[in-house]
Amino acid sequence: MSTDSLGFITCPLCGCACGLNLLAQRIRPDQPLSITVLPSSAPGWGASGLCMRGWQIGEILRSRRRLRHPMAWQEGGQQQVTWDEALALAAEPLRRLRAMEPAAIGIVLGDSLGNEEAFAAREFAAMLGTPNVACLGLEIDAPAVHGLEQVLGAPYRAPEPEEMDGADLFICVNSNLQHLNPRAAGAMARRVQQGAARMVLIDEVDQGLGAWSEVHARHQPGMRAGALRQVTAALAGEGRDGPLSPEDLRALRSIIGESRRVAVLVSAGALGGADEAQAAGRLVQALRGEARWVGAYVLPSGANTFGTLDMLAADGHSPRGMSATHMLAADSGLQALIVIGDDLGRLYGPEELATLRRRVHFVALPSFISPNTELADVALPVTVSGEREATIRRPDGRVWWSEATLEPVGEARRAEAVLDALAAALGESRRWSDRNTTWAAIRERVPGYRHVALGRLRAAELPAVGLDTAAVAIVVDPRILTQSPATAAEPDGAHPFVLIPRSGRGGWITDPRCQGAHILRREATMYREPYVLLSRDDAQAMNLRDGARVQITTETGAAVVRMRSEAGIPSGVGVLPTEYPGVIRVLGGGGEGGRLPIAPVAGAIEPSEIR
Ligand code: SF4
Repeated sequence: MSTDSLGFITCPLCGCACGLNLLAQRIRPDQPLSITVLPSSAPGWGASGLCMRGWQIGEILRSRRRLRHPMAWQEGGQQQVTWDEALALAAEPLRRLRAMEPAAIGIVLGDSLGNEEAFAAREFAAMLGTPNVACLGLEIDAPAVHGLEQVLGAPYRAPEPEEMDGADLFICVNSNLQHLNPRAAGAMARRVQQGAARMVLIDEVDQGLGAWSEVHARHQPGMRAGALRQVTAALAGEGRDGPLSPEDLRALRSIIGESRRVAVLVSAGALGGADEAQAAGRLVQALRGEARWVGAYVLPSGANTFGTLDMLAADGHSPRGMSATHMLAADSGLQALIVIGDDLGRLYGPEELATLRRRVHFVALPSFISPNTELADVALPVTVSGEREATIRRPDGRVWWSEATLEPVGEARRAEAVLDALAAALGESRRWSDRNTTWAAIRERVPGYRHVALGRLRAAELPAVGLDTAAVAIVVDPRILTQSPATAAEPDGAHPFVLIPRSGRGGWITDPRCQGAHILRREATMYREPYVLLSRDDAQAMNLRDGARVQITTETGAAVVRMRSEAGIPSGVGVLPTEYPGVIRVLGGGGEGGRLPIAPVAGAIEPSEIR
């Protein structure tokens, strides 16, 4: 057997950014490539194992869902074209807009791009003359990170995972961490199971962590900030009305009083806004005031949310254009949109995407087939982790280097090389694909990166990028950061259910990247259509079996979805999974500035058919 290559990468599939090794082998040249995932001893979540997505990343990287050739929308459908044809088609409207109205071009970045890719995209925007370059995933996380920065008074840094190993109490502010940041949730559960730590949960429903929690302090939907403030007041000995019961408050105080090393965990994308994060930050301060070690862990949703923030803050300021969500809003005035390494399906439903396509010249640089690629005027396939050298900045503030272990699939090219080629098609000469040139520019222009040397990265060092890295408010539009706080819904006779938008298990299963692995696809069969989660009692009262269709009606609209019951959902509550954003917008209203609505809404749920 011949070993072709072994290389280290960071998993791009969630904010844990686990380190792992890929072993790529081919017995004979005419045999298919076999990719084995091997654990890594590098610090971070990956050292303690991977989740099922990570173990299947070899299959994902080589799946049939990879985009292998440039495609263009011609004669009513996507047609395979040559790179030259695709680049010419992509560049033509950009050339006209660059000359006449460059601010009508927008660039939206994914949150698992490498630092070099994000930096090149910012430079490409500058070359076009548009200030509109932003990261959608960063904007999903930004309100939570900003709220914490405001209260704690410094740019947010997630403590290193190893620090959590010393915690004797985990205070979890959302119960779906295992769907959003699986290894972080796994590390906590392991410590609780070993008897080394205790866990308490403050959440409106239980989407999994309740099983490990000594206390599940339930609050009314939409009242998370009020619940956190109530706990903070109770620690100060103040009585304060709020959504938590006196019994739960007493139990929380007692457990906190017995703990010396406390970790407060929230998943950034699961918080409703800065208000909730500020409340979490004040709780952290109150806990610290009681002379104990306290870590605040706001876990990002993207593998490189913070690195992308750093690159967008090159020269110490943002590109100063529209946020990604405002670019995508119907009144943005954009005429061309370039999406690099992201799937807009996480925030927009199929109908919204189809409308977007009619409005703008849509160029996608994806790695996987997704609603983006199917709607794009031009889709230019780009490489992924494992196929190109790239860095990310982990939440602990260190820069990690991923190696190029695999040949790119099909005709996929590095994103920076595609931007070089687009620049050439516009009559410019750029060398963003040259690592030395790009790193020289990053060192010079990105605060905190001056000491990061390419040779040291390649030698597997993990340089820390320092404390002068950008605060989220430098890059993200204030309108994103000041989104109105969630409020409680008021059910009535006509609308007796409270419907809450939340991310759930289907969030990763509907990720186009994960659909490439057959075990994940098998899991996905239950979640491949929009659904609502109900309590078992409510399902039984309506004589509904799992999978039955229900009609949901709110003040703003109606939708027919499948019903699933879960033990952790209280009666009278329906959970609307955020992986089906079109349904949430129909039922919850438009949301501010193109974002998903975050507030609970009252609605009616009735059987649509009896199976
Ligand atoms: S926890 Fe996240 S980063 Fe780690 S292996 Fe799973 S998907 Fe990848």
